[in-house]
Amino acid sequence: MTQKTVILTFDDACITHRDFVVPILQKFGFGGTFFISLPPEWSAEAPGAYLNWGDIVCLAQQGFDIGNHTMNHANLSELSKEECRRELELLNEKFAEYGIPEPVSFAYPGGPYAANAVEVLQECALKYARTTEPGLWEPGKSDPMRLPCFAISEEQKENFHEAVKLASANENAAAIILYHGVPDLHHPWCNTSEETFLEQMEFLAENDFRVLSMRDFGAMQ
Ligand SMILES: [Zn+2]
Repeated sequence: MTQKTVILTFDDACITHRDFVVPILQKFGFGGTFFISLPPEWSAEAPGAYLNWGDIVCLAQQGFDIGNHTMNHANLSELSKEECRRELELLNEKFAEYGIPEPVSFAYPGGPYAANAVEVLQECALKYARTTEPGLWEPGKSDPMRLPCFAISEEQKENFHEAVKLASANENAAAIILYHGVPDLHHPWCNTSEETFLEQMEFLAENDFRVLSMRDFGAMQ
């Protein structure tokens, strides 16, 4: 049986993911992917705005998909293959140190597809890579290393409606939705308010969407 499907992704290890997002996901029984990136300058500029390793371990133990978003939020298109590998491995080594399963989900930092990085992503066992190009994940049709998404912010709330409209029209596909902080304490341009997020989650629950992580949707194909 097919069902209209939304995949929730949360980028950049924001503290509000722990404090606000997760309790709502748990209330509705929703899955999601948390894309971790921990550039030291971010936490220096905005102390307290980001998750620590204890928080990330907790998310993994709660069953959420922990994805690789590079240690330093690196623009992979500007890096050599070996530099790309280092960015991925630095984070994967930390995941291993903390007992977090080796990730299968990846999101290109900044959003754009980086063709030069695909080979090394696959060598690092990453199976699903999200860009910020708009569209649906259509299994068998979409390139798993170049998956589209709908990026939400307070200024781009309407992208949510586009995502659920397209997901409703194609039950073999999934709409990946991208949030940053709810709210975002450090990067206000990608902020989503608590009110908007709660409204959108209630909409998904009331309209019988299946809400998954990238890992879990990918494993069903
Ligand atoms: Zn990011």
